[in-house]
Amino acid sequence: MRLLIPYLATHGLRPFQRFFPDLLWRVEARARTAYLTFDDGPTEEITDDLLDLLAQFDAQATHFLVGEHAETFPDRTRALVSAGHRLGNHTYTHVDPWSVSAERLQQEVTRTTRCLQDLTRTRVRALRPPYGHPTGLLRRWCAERNQRMVMWDVMPGDYLKTATARRVARFVIRHVRPGSVIVLHDSPVCEGVTLPALTRILETLTAEGWSFDAL
Ligand SMILES: [Zn+2]
Repeated sequence: MRLLIPYLATHGLRPFQRFFPDLLWRVEARARTAYLTFDDGPTEEITDDLLDLLAQFDAQATHFLVGEHAETFPDRTRALVSAGHRLGNHTYTHVDPWSVSAERLQQEVTRTTRCLQDLTRTRVRALRPPYGHPTGLLRRWCAERNQRMVMWDVMPGDYLKTATARRVARFVIRHVRPGSVIVLHDSPVCEGVTLPALTRILETLTAEGWSFDAL
């Protein structure tokens, strides 16, 4: 079953995407440009090496940060912005939007955008709901504030217990399309998987003429 999750999270969601036209699943693009996104950071274990690796390949990315992690590591948060990456809101404590009260959810997202903007003096314009669980409240919150809710079209499942760097890299390389939004994680859960997978992804795709932009 676990091996199926990347396929379900990548292909299984496509029929539902048209019901949520305000959510971004993939960027309209013809050129070989893809959008790497990293959820759950910043972290002591991954962020610094991740920044070095992205810089080696001149790749930009979007980092959906957990507000309390950003406050714990303000210098890492600012380093992401200084390196040309963009930040997005991933709630303050990584709550599941489907299981907290509307009031709590509203507090979580409002606090996170404020915290990221105060730390970096930049505008934050994107939000990704934890667990990929959008709600009506979040959609309204985004619409009222000119924020974009970002989902994905390639989810290789680097956070799964069964994940290996080889499998994650192969999945991304096989499924990437022009404008793809790829989800990886800046999380200790993925230590030993995400960075070696990303090295392989960047080596292979860059050699094939792909470039990587921030949303
Ligand atoms: Zn997350």
